[in-house]
Amino acid sequence: MRRVVVLGSVLVIGFLGVAFEAAQGQAPRATLPDLVKVKDNLYVIGASSPADRSMFTGGNTGVFITTGGVVVVDTKLAGYGPTILEKIRKVTDKPVITIVNTHTHGDHTGSNEGFSATVDIVAHENTKANMLKMDAFKGDKAQFLPKRTYKDKMSLFSGKDRVDLYYFGAGHTSGDSFVVYPSLRVLQTGDMFAWKDAPLCDRANGGSCVEFPKTLAKAVAAIKDVDTVIPGHSPVTTPKDFEEYQRFNADLVASVQGAMKAGKSVDDAASAASATLVRKYQGYSSDRVKAAAQAIYDELK
Ligand SMILES: [Zn+2]
Repeated sequence: MRRVVVLGSVLVIGFLGVAFEAAQGQAPRATLPDLVKVKDNLYVIGASSPADRSMFTGGNTGVFITTGGVVVVDTKLAGYGPTILEKIRKVTDKPVITIVNTHTHGDHTGSNEGFSATVDIVAHENTKANMLKMDAFKGDKAQFLPKRTYKDKMSLFSGKDRVDLYYFGAGHTSGDSFVVYPSLRVLQTGDMFAWKDAPLCDRANGGSCVEFPKTLAKAVAAIKDVDTVIPGHSPVTTPKDFEEYQRFNADLVASVQGAMKAGKSVDDAASAASATLVRKYQGYSSDRVKAAAQAIYDELK
């Protein structure tokens, strides 16, 4: 038994390289993609898929250059602070003045510590509460927790520099912010729209797959004036895709809930939902439907 465990560990070392090196305070292995311009003064440092842990760097990072300095939305896994700054330096000499964390997860908050402790850090109040539970923000690292929080809506800066943060309820976690750059008509969704597949609903951090489509419906209804969407972990897209994601989630919950009422197993509910959804929604995967179905069963039982 022990021998199997040791062999397993050797095999796993390659995959854990990123986390291990980050823990050692060295540069992580996987390199970040270059900045991609979304609109004037707004760039994205792209995300990689969490499916391949050796290449995983974290979620999409928004880089918004305002009159007074740079706003960074989500900071990827730990260890990427210097590289994020290096990329920002290619487009501006202005200092980073504000970080927004869309939610608590380490692939969106991990490199908060890579920035100056004087940087203003902003998040939803539930996200701060979730971050307080993380080892990564204990002791000295508490200085990289959000300094300012909000409940329903918050605006940062004004005029063409304005950034609006909205909260519409539980979904991926209990504290997901939708970030709007009104002058540019761009919405950054965090992991309320991470990819074209079922969502991850982190119930330990107050997430809810049942609430997910309701929360998205509120966002779709309230955030009208945008023409571009930056998802959590996939390439820049359109509001049409974001609206479609709301319908996908509504169908997912309805399908799984129906199967549950009919006394089906989670496996059967997931297979049925996958088959229907993949047929109806082009370009979607169903790799995460099973986990979402399980979350829905756990929530409703
Ligand atoms: Zn997340």
